[in-house]
Amino acid sequence: MTSPSIVWFRDDLRLADHPALRAALDRDEPVIGLYVLDDESPGIRPLGGAARWWLHHSLTSLAERLRERGSTLVLRRGPAEKVVAELARDAGAGAVFWNRRYGQPERDIDAALKTALRDDGLTAQSFAASVLFEPWTVATGSGTPYSVYTPFWRACLALPTPREPLPEPLSIPGVSKAPPSDDLESWELLPQHPDWAAGLREMWEPGEPAARRRLHEFLTEDSSSYEAARNTPSAGATSLLSPRLRWGELSPHTIWHESVQAGVGGMFLSELGWREFAWHTLFHFPDLATKNLRRDFDAFPWPTPDPEHLSAWQQGRTGFAIVDAGMRELWQTGYMHNRVRMVTASFLIKNLLIDWRIGEEWFWDTLVDADGASNSFNWQWVAGSGADAAPYFRIFNPELQAKKFDPASRYIAEWAPDHVSDSPPPQIVDLGETRKAALQAYEAVKGAS
Ligand code: FAD
Repeated sequence: MTSPSIVWFRDDLRLADHPALRAALDRDEPVIGLYVLDDESPGIRPLGGAARWWLHHSLTSLAERLRERGSTLVLRRGPAEKVVAELARDAGAGAVFWNRRYGQPERDIDAALKTALRDDGLTAQSFAASVLFEPWTVATGSGTPYSVYTPFWRACLALPTPREPLPEPLSIPGVSKAPPSDDLESWELLPQHPDWAAGLREMWEPGEPAARRRLHEFLTEDSSSYEAARNTPSAGATSLLSPRLRWGELSPHTIWHESVQAGVGGMFLSELGWREFAWHTLFHFPDLATKNLRRDFDAFPWPTPDPEHLSAWQQGRTGFAIVDAGMRELWQTGYMHNRVRMVTASFLIKNLLIDWRIGEEWFWDTLVDADGASNSFNWQWVAGSGADAAPYFRIFNPELQAKKFDPASRYIAEWAPDHVSDSPPPQIVDLGETRKAALQAYEAVKGAS
């Protein structure tokens, strides 16, 4: 009689550097891979459209890779705590392993499941794999969470170096009769009526092998211009690894060590540090996506959003070239360059006076890298309500930003060619007036603090 080990895959759709998978292999019993689509447990945020597209393809790749090595990926849908326990029982599993998540609803599910499995006599064990420094391991001298990035990252760097990545297993023994699995198609993760994913298909190939290729390409060819050109949207100088990290097709440990080995350090690693800081912040402030981190911002008098303005922003029809280019890049590819994310977010919040939460939701739905921590963290950063945030009164001027970061209008010509034509589209607001209105509204926050 065997007592298989279940590896519950979540935001770690890879085989390399997967401590939960390693633990399962070390148990010397057959391995069952499991992914649960949980759209029922309380507090779990439903995935956005672009994320669902990515998930479909990444799961396809993971299933194939597990099959090639002798194992299987079982797909189940429902409240994760119940679904995992059920599979463990039905498969006669002796152990369940997973890599840790850091959002509160996810942690609640995982803690309850661990207790339930252990009560039933199973081994249930979790591992650190998705962040370099687990949130509770980094604290200020007085034991509180960090609220400023620079000392946070300095404290991380003073900790022992992140562990070396684990090698990818070449063989993963499976069970002789795989438990029943949902058909991935039945989850309907791909858009159909209409199929808006053509641009995503053109730009991305989800899955671990393509992620590894991109990391290699970035480290050997593209990273030399990173420090100088990472703020230039047309330069193609950044790593494009964000969806790979979001879905865990690469671990941060792999990226860290391979970058150091390739001599790519400082600035690039410190960007990974922002990702760590976002998770640190979310761990300590679980409501980051819905509540102002700085509570004095609760006094901000958001007017009722103008639906015309909101849809002009979403569709890239504001009449401001870099904003329109960014929003169209997002819609077509599920990605937007970081500098342009900052400019488009600032425009929504400070020129259209629309609540950052509404912008955060749009990004959540449209980004392939939409991340439980980084998205809300960065929206709050732009709004001024977040951790170590840009002050509210520092309002980006989208025209000056375009001049500075896209001086030859290359990025604009690529994504919003009508803006470099003879009849550019009209601007929906006056920058000067809206700036004034935003600063006036901000007085209420100043009064509250
Ligand atoms: P690189 O410059 O190559 O950076 C390497 C990695 O560092 C990235 O892949 C990412 O994991 C991390 N990183 C870089 N900058 C940041 C940052 N500011 N915050 C957190 N991590 C960072 N990033 C997401 O991964 N998911 C999101 O949902 C997300 N939403 C954002 C929303 C707004 C309004 C803004 C301003 C930024 C957002 N970012 C988000 C951060 C950043 O824009 C992206 O991580 C970056 O553009 C990804 O491109 P890259 O992989 O080429 O970045």
